Amino acid sequence: MKLKLSCLLIATALASMTAQAVVTDKMIDADASTPGDVLTNGMGTQGQRYSTLKTINTSNVGSLAPAWAFSFGGEKQRGQEAQPVIHNGKMFITSSYSRIFALDAATGKKLWKYEYRLPEGIMPCCDVINRGAALYDNLVIYATLDAHLVALNQDTGEVVWNEKIDEYTAGYSMSAAPLIAGGLLLTGVSGGEFGIIGRVEARDPKTGKMVWVRPTIEGHMGKKYDKDGNATDNGISGTVNKSWPGDLWKTGGAAPWLGGTYNAKTGLAYFGTGNPAPWNSHIRQGDNLFSCSTVAIDVKTGQIVWHYQGTPNDGWDFDGVNEFITYDEGGKILGGKADRNGFFYVIDAKNGHLENAFPFVKKISWATGIDLKTGRPNFVPENRPGDPTASADGKKGASVVATPSFLGGKNQMPMAYSPDTKLFYVPSNEWGMEIWNEPITFKKGAAYLGAGFTIKAINEDYIGALRAVDPKTGKIVWEAKNNAPLWGGVMTTAGNLVFWGTPEGYLQAADAKTGKIVWKFQTGSGIVAPPVTWEQNGEQYVAVASGWGGAVPLWGGEVAKRVALLEQGGTMWVFKLPKAGGNARADSTPAVASKSVTAPKHAAALVPTNVSLKTVE
Ligand code: CA
Ligand code: CA
Repeated sequence: MKLKLSCLLIATALASMTAQAVVTDKMIDADASTPGDVLTNGMGTQGQRYSTLKTINTSNVGSLAPAWAFSFGGEKQRGQEAQPVIHNGKMFITSSYSRIFALDAATGKKLWKYEYRLPEGIMPCCDVINRGAALYDNLVIYATLDAHLVALNQDTGEVVWNEKIDEYTAGYSMSAAPLIAGGLLLTGVSGGEFGIIGRVEARDPKTGKMVWVRPTIEGHMGKKYDKDGNATDNGISGTVNKSWPGDLWKTGGAAPWLGGTYNAKTGLAYFGTGNPAPWNSHIRQGDNLFSCSTVAIDVKTGQIVWHYQGTPNDGWDFDGVNEFITYDEGGKILGGKADRNGFFYVIDAKNGHLENAFPFVKKISWATGIDLKTGRPNFVPENRPGDPTASADGKKGASVVATPSFLGGKNQMPMAYSPDTKLFYVPSNEWGMEIWNEPITFKKGAAYLGAGFTIKAINEDYIGALRAVDPKTGKIVWEAKNNAPLWGGVMTTAGNLVFWGTPEGYLQAADAKTGKIVWKFQTGSGIVAPPVTWEQNGEQYVAVASGWGGAVPLWGGEVAKRVALLEQGGTMWVFKLPKAGGNARADSTPAVASKSVTAPKHAAALVPTNVSLKTVE
């Protein structure tokens, strides 16, 4: 009897240990308010990228110093756009070429690495990047550039399941961090430049098996799946041919390539969708739903509950993929979105009603504003690139100079929202492009644009600007200009701090209320990833991946030349405050060594504040 009881006690103890070790739905829903871990992309499924931690704050951030750094290695250093996730003292970080690493979060010691074997002929549009992993149960799950999803055991790095999403030879790829919402694994496909069909898929995160799929192009049938994998129809998205002429909806794009956010109170997942295909808007008269939109999907049913389209009949590649961040305001749940088209939208997260819309960049040529009654943009028709069939030889439509450029007032780099200041912190860019249309026909697996373009800077001294935006008034409360285009995400904390990285290599922090830069550190390559923070053993850590790349060097035209001096890299950097009289290093190095790594008190003052890239062109 005694033996039985002690066995039971041991079993109970083991069960509770296991319960702590695995990531549950409850833990994911609570992620934003549990600073001991970072379980989700966005530091919470709402995507606010806000931490309640204030150990590091405006008064002591000046002494923030490296704790450790880890190189992703490999021969090819390319854009590092991923946010790490952290659980049980382990950090999981994806890197270029669909790689993933597990590291000891306190010391940076490598626990395991998994290098996904990519086939020849993958077609990622914008560098061989990845934007992070999801955690569920004892799994870490991420997407690959050949459009697979892979789930690995968090402890061993062994593959538990691997599911093919679609044909990479048809232009499908995947790079977004998966989202866990209501017990499901939600992902979106990439490939809008190849005329693929955008869709959101829901899977069982433990097995990878399909639960439902929701196409984001009007006319396509949704599906749901039973336990044996048998599919049944689950309603058409929209109405066939209502917003698309002819057969164009069959190759319509609208890829939700940046993934989604989720609000447990509304039960809705919010996915932004990319451009309609092809880019030439004259051959697809109509709104072209659900391209360049936010779609709110009921995770239980897989149905689109509401949608809001930022750029109807897009003619500028204004992918509306940007994150929809929900927040509580005056008893309502609202969502904020800084769209690639240059406008910031505030929308009721339950029903899709447009509450406010205003520009967050200074120069917008394609529309004069957004009509708050109809929710539609007031287009400037002469600033739409012309119809090639109206030209003398039928080969090139009238060219226009458009702002923002197709790389956007904002692109993949996520903004942050602070419930303390009630401000959004938006990594924005001011640039334009010359753009024209050309005839195009669809060919599977080939670029499907029907447009030519050159991106140009419009200001001498800056392209990027981190802007603190008040969603109520539309006012820009403060801005911190940056010479190169900003391409990394933002984080804000209860310590009244905003952290973001720059292509020039700095991770920096500003006072969240004033925008005054209070700390910066040179990471050795450009930062195009969002930072995170967490608490471990009573200390607050800040982490960011460094490694220049992404769309700008590949597609940036004249801007790419301007930033050609930036070097590629691939390093995970982690920072913390020095211990009293000691150093910031996480390992047990004797205190004697401490002085060499303790940050100068006013580190920010030691680095140049305005490095001009233009001079070294
Ligand atoms: Ca957490
Ligand atoms: Ca696009």
